[in-house]
Parts: sequence; structure tokens; C-alpha cells
Amino acid sequence: MEMKRESQTTPSSELQMQSVCLALFEAAAEGLVVINSKGLIVLVNQRMAELLGYASHELIGETIEKFVPKRYEHAHHQHRDQYFEAPSRRSMGYGRDLTALRSDGSEFAVEVSLNHFEVEGETFVMALISDITQRKNAERELESLNQELERRVAERTSQIAESQRLYAIIARNFPNGSIMVFDRAFNYIFTEGRELYRMGVTGEELVGTNYLDRLTPKAREIIQPRLLEVFGGQNVNFDIEVDDRHYELNAVPLQDTDGKISQILVVETNVTQQKRVEHNMVKALEKERQLNELKSRFVSMASHEFRTPLSTILTSLSLANRYHGLGNEENLQKHYGRIRSSVHILTAILNDFLSLDKLESGMIGSNPELLNLKVLIDDLVDEQQDMCKQGQSITFAFEGEEMVTTDQNMLRNIVVNLISNAIKYSNENSRVEVTATVKDNRALVQVRDHGIGIPEADQRHIFERFFRANNSTNIQGTGLGLNIVKKYLNLLGGDIWFESTPMVGTVFSFVIPQNLVV
Ligand code: ADP
Repeated sequence: MEMKRESQTTPSSELQMQSVCLALFEAAAEGLVVINSKGLIVLVNQRMAELLGYASHELIGETIEKFVPKRYEHAHHQHRDQYFEAPSRRSMGYGRDLTALRSDGSEFAVEVSLNHFEVEGETFVMALISDITQRKNAERELESLNQELERRVAERTSQIAESQRLYAIIARNFPNGSIMVFDRAFNYIFTEGRELYRMGVTGEELVGTNYLDRLTPKAREIIQPRLLEVFGGQNVNFDIEVDDRHYELNAVPLQDTDGKISQILVVETNVTQQKRVEHNMVKALEKERQLNELKSRFVSMASHEFRTPLSTILTSLSLANRYHGLGNEENLQKHYGRIRSSVHILTAILNDFLSLDKLESGMIGSNPELLNLKVLIDDLVDEQQDMCKQGQSITFAFEGEEMVTTDQNMLRNIVVNLISNAIKYSNENSRVEVTATVKDNRALVQVRDHGIGIPEADQRHIFERFFRANNSTNIQGTGLGLNIVKKYLNLLGGDIWFESTPMVGTVFSFVIPQNLVV
């Protein structure tokens, strides 16, 4: 083949150039093929033959379509004709993937550059063909990696969106409290929870505002330093009471990726209800404990206090039996009297306990009725004469309006307790003076004795349950009477006090409203 060139070279140097060209053609690292206008291969280099899997000489004279996969053959034919009509230097199949067919029927990806030249008026086309299988594979791999990456990103994004939705729902429904995230200036970054709705605000409204500004000065004083500890890396838990509401705060630091704490998470729970239940439970337990203690103390006290009157009853009974029929009426009456007063003592102890038990368990309420105070106290004084020691007497003086409205049973109990104490804690031949005055809508009752008195040091304990003064341990008693009297007076809207000097005597005074209204 002779190529047309405009050349100044001599024939021998032209020959030389031709062989240089052929050598270059042969040595090229890419496949090179030259076809004529009929599409027949006129020249092919070694690399091209290798790529297609033939020996070079097998390719000469073949149509170029022999190396184009069947499905493109027709289109290729047309493109080739069009190219020969208007040849230009360009790449082939712009924007499409090109493949070539090997001798074994397999295909491989190629990139084709086209060029043309004329030799003696005939147009030839030279195609430079590169095997781009590896590049294509790498591209494909990259693409599939990209797709996988995109798929994962999409999956992760939807997971994040889903978990954010979940977190928001969980946080919004956080019962009896709120979840808050603050920055270092205590501005809300995030907040949700039922407590916000109770307070009539939404999380969106709070974000960007300052948490501390919403606190009362007292709450701020407690909360701010504790939350500052959290910015210092501590987890803190504490309780706080604001306007009768109790809150429990749990706060933890939130670390950035570089380990710095620029935000904290605070979970605030309204525990008012629990605290109330807890408080009531503690109160109920304490009451229960006191009742149990009262009962067990009563049992030990009763077993001691019952012994004397019971043995008096037994002795007096057996002596009365002996005197019976012997005509010694005076001795008989003396023993009957002892039995009677021992039974009184036992009844009084039991009554005290029953009253206290009822009072402690809140079963007693006052039941006011209109009564004549003068007549009532007079009767009680009469009844108590029985209990007097040798030579003791009780006097009674009344002044003012006689009719009062109060609870009769409670009033009786109070008066009887005070008179029987006055008798008990004074000696034979002494006087007990009872006075009552009703004026200015109040009734004042006083019981004075000239007895052993109450030691100074014991006076402040005298209304405590089971308390007995130092100087009275040899005298029968339970330490319950005055405690009950005080409780009754509370229920009657009254008050009680006393003055006492040891070895001189004692005056107990109480007031009640003339007309008790319940
Ligand atoms: P009790 O008389 O059964 O012991 P109280 O509760 O009636 O129980 O009285 C408590 C204590 O107060 C008595 O044990 C006694 O020490 C003292 N006390 C009460 N009244 C008098 C009184 N009039 N004089 C002296 N001490 C009294």
C-alpha cells in the first residue's frame, strides 16, 4: 500500500520513513486497524490481532463487521458508510458502550478513535482500538459501590428519621415530667413531656428560651449550682419542692464527639403524687405503730395495776364471808366498801383505755346537747364522795348561767378524772374544792386540792400518755387520765392548764365554750 503524502524527502528516505511507520504501527500498544471504503481490513497490527484472538494474516481482507457483535452489525454498517461520506477525526460511538467480538465468540469493551487518510484517491479509515475491559470493570465496581453506598445512606436516613420520630413520641408522652436538653447558658435545645402540657406550653415554644428564667428565685438557687456540676462532668440526682409540688431531677452530661460537654440532659419528674402517698403511708404507719405501742404498754400496765384491786377484792370477799352471820355489820360494810372501790378502779382503768383507743383511732366525735352544768357537776361531786379517804371532803361552788351546750359524756369524764386525781393525790382529812363559773360565753371549771403536788421537773410532761410524776409511783394510776382529758378538751374546743406546788397542792383549770357548735 502506498500512502499519499506531501513530502520533500528523496525516494530512498521515503522508503526509510515507510518502514519506520510500519515499525511504529506494529509496535503500538493499542490495536490498530486500517479498512478501505468497502469495510475490508487492509492492515492490522499485532496488538489488534492479539485482542481479537487471530493471527494477523487471518484478518486481512475480512470485513470489519466480523469483529462487531451480531446485534450491532447492521447499525455499524450504516455508520461506516456515513463516516466514509464525511470522514473526520473523532471517537467512535460517543456516549455508548462499544464492544468487540473475539474469535472465541466472547466480547470485550473497547474504545475506538477514528482517523482517515487518502492514498491515491481512495479513502482509508484507521481505527485505534483500546481494550477498556479493566476500566469498565473498575467503573462498574465503582458504580455498584456507589449504589450500595447510596442505598445504605437512604436506609440509615430513614432509620434516623424513624428513631427521631420515635424519640419525639416517647419524649412527648414522658409521664408526669419533662425531658430537657440545655446548652451552657441553660437555653432549651430540646424539651418534651406531659408536664409541659400541664403547664400549658409546648416544647417548640420553649426551645431557644432560657430555663433559669422560668424558675422561682428559690428554685433557681437550688437548681443552678447542681446543674453546673453536670457541665463539670458529674451525674446528679436531687429532689426539689416548688409551690407544694415535688420534682425529682436526674441530669447527665452530653459529650460532643471530641469529648467536650456543651449540652446536658435533664429529666424532671413530678413526684408530688408519690410524695403525698408516701407521706400518708408514713403517717398511717406511725399511727399504727403508736396504737400497737399503746396496746402493749396497756397490757403491761394493766397486769400491774389490776393486781392490787383484784387482791383487795379477794381478801375483802373472804373476810366478808367470815364476818357474815357474826353480826359484825360495820366490818362487813367496810369490806363491801373496799370491794366497791376496787371495782371502781378496775372500771376506771378499762374506761380510760377504751376511751384512748377510740380517741387514737379517730372514732370519737363530740355530740353536743343542752345541759345544766351546775346539776351535772353537783351529781359528779356526790358520786365521788364515795371515793374520799378518811376525813376528806369535796365542796362545790357555782356562778353564772347554768345552761351550756356541750358533749355530756366527755365533760363527765373530764370532771371525774380531775376530782378523782385530787382525792387520790391528797391525804386524809384534806379538802377538794370544785368551782365553776359561766360567763362571757365560756365555762371555767377549777379543781383545787391540798395534796402532794407535782414536782417542778415533771410538770411539762404531765399530759403525756403513760406519764406519772416521781412522787406518785406508790399511788395507783395509769398515766392515761390527763392525756384523755386533754384530748377531750380539744374536741370540745376548750383548754386545760394547772398550777402546782409540791406538798402544798394543785389547781387544775379548764375552759370550754358555753355553746359548742360542730
Ligand atoms: P394517773 O393518775 O392514772 O397516774 P393521770 O394522767 O390522771 O394518770 O395523771 C398523770 C400524773 O399526774 C399522775 O400519775 C400524777 O403523778 C400527776 N397528777 C395528776 N393529778 C395530780 C394531782 N391533783 N396532784 C398531784 N399529782 C397529780
